[in-house]
Amino acid sequence: MSVILEAKPVVQAIENDLLEEVKNLQALGRIPTLGIIRVGEKPDDLYYENTILKKCQKLGINVQIYPLDRNVSLKEFENILRAVNCDSSVHGILIFRPLPEQLDENRIKDLIEPAKDIDCLHSLNLAKVWEGDTSGFVPCTPAAVMEILKYYQISLEGRNAVVIGRSMVVGKPLSMMLLKANATVTICHSKTRNLPQIARQADILVAALGKAKFIDHTYVTENSIVIDVGINDGGDGKICGDVDYEAVKDKVLSITPVPGGVGSVTTTILLKHVIMACKNTL
Ligand code: NAP
Repeated sequence: MSVILEAKPVVQAIENDLLEEVKNLQALGRIPTLGIIRVGEKPDDLYYENTILKKCQKLGINVQIYPLDRNVSLKEFENILRAVNCDSSVHGILIFRPLPEQLDENRIKDLIEPAKDIDCLHSLNLAKVWEGDTSGFVPCTPAAVMEILKYYQISLEGRNAVVIGRSMVVGKPLSMMLLKANATVTICHSKTRNLPQIARQADILVAALGKAKFIDHTYVTENSIVIDVGINDGGDGKICGDVDYEAVKDKVLSITPVPGGVGSVTTTILLKHVIMACKNTL
């Protein structure tokens, strides 16, 4: 029987710790505060914002939203961002992306105050991930994967981890984090040859390629621990992962579901970072 690596208990365990941390901060007169910069009113952004608001309320985190017009100029955007950077009552900044094309994300990411960069966009924080320096913020999705592995006591030292996908948001930083945890890491991408064969050598197989149900039974063995990072439109009104869950779930040692897996932990990590940022100001 495969073990289903559900997000729910992972989220619960992190939230219990966070509630305690918020209580301690409140006793010191601090209320962790998240600043959200949202451009326009895209349904996805509003949905995510609503999810964050509910979670923040539950955890005792304040939220300050900066709604900007869809046509905001780069200069106006930068002025707002600088003001939020300087506002000592805001501890963490989240910018909803993708941004409209008049706003150059590459330029904007390095304007965020690194100490408030809870989503790890700034080059300084990313560089720390590559250096194995844990003093900065790590990207939330790779951190969610690491939390799931930790919660389910999946050892990494000396084990083979195969990461499919090399984006700067997921694949590359996650590979660095697995390496820091002493896994032997193979990074695969769209030009990788013999992908199923490489994937089958993994103790831990991470699918982060953005292709609905791409990973089937030919990529796994009965010893595979499968972490599905994918969030795709399943075409049937439901979301699905990069792994063909139904085809794979009984053929592996363990697997994260979608929904109810990595994505569910990611938002909790973001809020954990807000609390960390607040604590860092003490
Ligand atoms: P991305 O930027 O599109 O990168 C996809 C990566 O997969 C690229 O490196 C690409 O290789 C590789 N790839 C594409 N097709 C492949 C194939 N057939 N074989 C092997 N590698 C292939 O995607 P992303 O932003 O990293 O996101 C990946 C998935 O995670 C998506 O489903 C996304 O929705 C999901 N996601 C989830 C969360 C969460 O919280 N759970 C957060 C972010 C993203 P090349 O570099 O060669 O093009």
